[in-house]
Amino acid sequence: MTVKTVETGNAEETFALGRRIGEQASAGEVYTLVGDLGVGKTVFTQGMAKGLGIEDTVNSPTFTILQVYGEGRLPFYHFDVYRIGDVGEMDEIGYEEYFYGDGVCMVEWADLIEEILPEHYFRITICKDLSKGMDFRKISMEERHRI
Ligand code: ADP
Ligand code: MG
Repeated sequence: MTVKTVETGNAEETFALGRRIGEQASAGEVYTLVGDLGVGKTVFTQGMAKGLGIEDTVNSPTFTILQVYGEGRLPFYHFDVYRIGDVGEMDEIGYEEYFYGDGVCMVEWADLIEEILPEHYFRITICKDLSKGMDFRKISMEERHRI
């Protein structure tokens, strides 16, 4: 398993990294984002949407777990499961249709629904390091195969 690590010094760089991932994403891929509140998961996701050719504003949905963006190069399914009570809420949404569909999924706070993640997905972790400044972020990306 290879882990790629990138450091960013401001939100624009994190956005640009997300955009590159969005430009290269393929149908059926699931990406997950893990990291504390305010670390930049949504900034990354906004970049990803841009890279997929989506012009709509993407933000963290407060009361909905899923936002669907259909107008890009591929359908983009943005999950933010921060407020999820239990995994059953994902069943109610019919998550399998999206995880195993022909669009690209991004799941913020994916560690909260770890048990239903697909066998293969990309895990992105964003961390701060305050010793390197308020805006410094370490972003690690790895491809995961669950057994
Ligand atoms: P999350 O979705 O992880 O809760 P957001 O993406 O909503 O976080 O917010 C991240 C905040 O941190 C934004 O206000 C953004 O401007 C700021 N920020 C500062 N430096 C960075 C960086 N290097 N990468 C991403 N966001 C950054
Ligand atoms: Mg967010």
